[in-house]
Amino acid sequence: MGPAELPFLKDAPMTGRTRLFPLNENNLRDTLKEAAAIINDRGLVAFPTETVYGLGANALDAKAVRAIFEAKGRPADNPLIVHISSKQQCCKLARNIPEKAFKLMDKFWPGPLTLILERQEIVPDVTTGGLDTVALRMPDNEIALGLIRVSGQPLAAPSANLSGKPSPTTAQHVISDLWGRIDAVIDGGTVEIGLESTVIDMTLPVPAILRPGRISLEDIEKEIGSITTGYLDGNQPESAAVRSPGMKYTHYAPDATVILIEGASTSVVHRIQEMLKTYGLEEVKVGLLLTDESNMDIYHDEQLSLGSKDKPAELAFNLFSGLRSLDARDVDIILVDGSFSHHGIGAAVSNRIRKAASSIIKV
Ligand code: AMP
Ligand code: MG
Repeated sequence: MGPAELPFLKDAPMTGRTRLFPLNENNLRDTLKEAAAIINDRGLVAFPTETVYGLGANALDAKAVRAIFEAKGRPADNPLIVHISSKQQCCKLARNIPEKAFKLMDKFWPGPLTLILERQEIVPDVTTGGLDTVALRMPDNEIALGLIRVSGQPLAAPSANLSGKPSPTTAQHVISDLWGRIDAVIDGGTVEIGLESTVIDMTLPVPAILRPGRISLEDIEKEIGSITTGYLDGNQPESAAVRSPGMKYTHYAPDATVILIEGASTSVVHRIQEMLKTYGLEEVKVGLLLTDESNMDIYHDEQLSLGSKDKPAELAFNLFSGLRSLDARDVDIILVDGSFSHHGIGAAVSNRIRKAASSIIKV
């Protein structure tokens, strides 16, 4: 769905002229001071984390958090992740924290792992989408940590894109989605990981991954033993249980229609070439998201590689920017080579593409 079709966007107030803070090695302290003042004035500041750019507001201020939902056009029942800069902040925001959760914090924080915990009353309903749990994460990025420290506030920060669009991995992506709708953007360059954090529900007897990410199921099981997965990956019927509200919405989708082709590499490439011929006859403009190993017989103008299948972190890093850059080339359809391994980080890459896809073809 394009932004113009999002009902909540039509009435959303513009938050005035957006300020851009480009960072260099001399201005970090001053930038953080100014950005923190905006946060404490109930404003919205987009900032880099190691995963993707976040759109931050004081997580404990319901009015400020409501403005995040308005700026993004985000459905109100999709809760936000609260970003903190020290483990001590956890106890103010969450309670009955299980021992296993502390183990994961010790191992993976700061880093791309979000823990769902029972919430304390201090966290407003709007932040948790009305749930009795809260999502907490300590980002591994000095700008993000600095903004939390200098503002003195935990920051509710979803990805800094219009709801439904691919997550932003550069300040430019944030600007193209949210300019004029938010108060400031801190430009800290391209993020490191390019895919959102792993989300794990620690309130269940057996913890469950609700969203896969760079930290894999196997990484987590090494620390706390057996866990399970609770996310939908596009294959389940709509009636399947939804534990994480965000999972039921369209996500990560560029303007072009995404078609994912899964199967063995040669069959996938063969099918893509056949589809290119058909679309060529219909004069449909097609973009391709391939891997370094996709052996195409013909060269196609609008094609990008996500990287090598041997390096799933590279595929993850290039996915959202790849979708956005094919959109910028005005393609109608994007065909994605889904022949990479769906294990480990590959599970996260496949999860995001499946959600962005209008259809999945298995060959
Ligand atoms: P975003 O910040 O846009 O990357 O999305 C945050 C993700 O965390 C969404 O999928 C939310 O549904 C999920 N999330 C946040 N808080 C909770 C919670 N309390 N329980 C379950 N899922 C949550
Ligand atoms: Mg998001």
